[in-house]
Amino acid sequence: MNIFNLGGMEAGSGDDAAGTPNAEAQCSRKACRSAATWQLLWNNPRIHTPDRRKVWLACDEHREWLEDYLQTRGLWKATMPFVDGSSIEAASDSAHGGAS
Ligand SMILES: [Zn+2]
Repeated sequence: MNIFNLGGMEAGSGDDAAGTPNAEAQCSRKACRSAATWQLLWNNPRIHTPDRRKVWLACDEHREWLEDYLQTRGLWKATMPFVDGSSIEAASDSAHGGAS
C-alpha cells in the first residue's frame, strides 16, 4: 500500500535527522501528503455554534474534492488561499470571541 514509505527508508537516509517540521501544513485529504495551498472553512450546525469555523487544508489537487464533499453535506462556508501560518482556525481559537 505505502510504497513511498518503504522506498524512503532506504533512499532517504539522514532525512529524518534534519527534523524539518512540515507536518502541519499538509492537505487534509486522506493519504495525501502534499503541501496545503488552500484552506476550506466549514461549519456543522449540529455540533458547532454558528460562528465556529473548522478548517481543512487542501492542496491544489484536492481542493475541489474537499469542497464538493463539504458542499454535498451543506457544511461548506468558504475557500481561501492558505499562506503558511495564516490558518483561520489558529486565529479564532486564540481570540476569545471579541474581534467582531
Ligand atoms: Zn491533497
